[in-house]
Amino acid sequence: MALISKNPATGEIIGETPELTIDELDRRLAAAHEAFLSWRETTVVERTVPMRKLAGLFRERAGELGSLAALEMGKPLAQATAEAAKCALVCDYYAENAETFLKPEKAPSDASESYVRFDPIGTVLAVMPWNFPYWQVARFAAPALMAGNVGVLKHASNVPRCAAAFGALFVEAGFPEGVFQNLPIGSAMVERVIRHPGVRGVALTGSEAAGSSVAALAGSLIKKTVLELGGSDPFIVLADADVEAAAKAATLARLQNAGQSCIAAKRFIVVDAAYDAFLAAFANSMGLAKVGDPFDAATTMGPLSTEGGLRDIERQVKESVEKGARVVIGGKRIGEKGFFYEPTILDGVVPGMPAYGEELFGPVAAVIRARDAEDAIRIANDTPFGLGSSIWTKDVELAKELARRVTAGSVFVNGMVKSDPRLPFGGTGISGYGRELSRYGMQEFVNVKTVWIA
Ligand code: NAP
Repeated sequence: MALISKNPATGEIIGETPELTIDELDRRLAAAHEAFLSWRETTVVERTVPMRKLAGLFRERAGELGSLAALEMGKPLAQATAEAAKCALVCDYYAENAETFLKPEKAPSDASESYVRFDPIGTVLAVMPWNFPYWQVARFAAPALMAGNVGVLKHASNVPRCAAAFGALFVEAGFPEGVFQNLPIGSAMVERVIRHPGVRGVALTGSEAAGSSVAALAGSLIKKTVLELGGSDPFIVLADADVEAAAKAATLARLQNAGQSCIAAKRFIVVDAAYDAFLAAFANSMGLAKVGDPFDAATTMGPLSTEGGLRDIERQVKESVEKGARVVIGGKRIGEKGFFYEPTILDGVVPGMPAYGEELFGPVAAVIRARDAEDAIRIANDTPFGLGSSIWTKDVELAKELARRVTAGSVFVNGMVKSDPRLPFGGTGISGYGRELSRYGMQEFVNVKTVWIA
């Protein structure tokens, strides 16, 4: 069996990567465990050496890695290059801070001395999505490896070349053999990996279906999971918001990565008093997007990454329109070649429509009318998801109060939701559990060990 790379701008197959055989997979997992036995004995300071080198490689090779992602998953070249370069930040961040985060903590008790240690647990499997083929993996790998764990990667089947290039950098950076390995396998082989006794945890970023199935198996084997799943982030515009600034940010937040981001704004909840002005400014701003070839410097939005993704978004728009939504701009596929879809705004979105209740993983904005701030919060929370959210208002005190009431892993006030190594990232509800990035991300795959001395 092989993993197929397809160019989403043309729909053409551009390569095949053979999958590992079962024997090869078992050998790699045994090698990971062997590597763990020595890697866990290294000091945090020793681990910073290859981690800093890796950061340098991400900077040096960003252009090359960017081209590969543009070709394999359709992200505009400048954005793909920026994504690869961003990986350096998370490597540097954990190289800089791991020693502090992992420092044993005094825990006074009835002992003469008691403290808490943060020790590594073993091999951690990362099951990753194609939408940010480098950044998603780097933010898993940097804290896991700095904590003394080893990592194995099962990347999405449609980005095997990005996965191979990413894995090769760890070897070049000087990590000992087996500390981080890319495993070219399909999802059917994930069970075998999770069952391996050396594998002690799984971090999965992807859909609820994948998260639920992987977590169920890992749970049955008493293995820890962190799940970063989908989102249907609310973007709340209140009466006193700077509508022009909000509309500009809304466009970027909706169209980044052709709308295929878990933290893209998806539901634009606008109060009555700002509704018409926001909708006009939003339509104007969305209309300026340049959709086209990811390698053309003028392109701001590329194709969707997969044909399945294109079909899903076509269905969601069609069914929402049949149920009464109005297409303000866009609303259809572009051309017959490749997987392009128009930047789209749907107005009059109400409960019962796919655009209201489902995650829209494409360049389609659902605009929902709210009576006032109270109603906007009710609508924002009327979802099983809970990943990111943003609130637009000049009244920062009101925003802070509303931030408390939004059910989400993050609230950005007058800004679009983004990930930053210094800030925890994760969700509530069916958006998942556990955290990545910051101190909290590093604490997920460690044994929090109590030491008590009489
Ligand atoms: P997906 O189908 O769940 O794929 C994600 C990964 O899971 C891939 O490596 C996939 O492998 C694997 N996988 C799928 N089903 C599996 C199963 N039953 N057992 C084991 N592995 C399995 O996700 P997607 O639809 O391509 O990606 C988009 C989703 O990811 C969206 O919902 C998005 O919001 C979410 N996402 C979340 C975050 C976050 O941080 N919260 C970030 C990015 C994306 P194959 O490719 O081989 O099927």
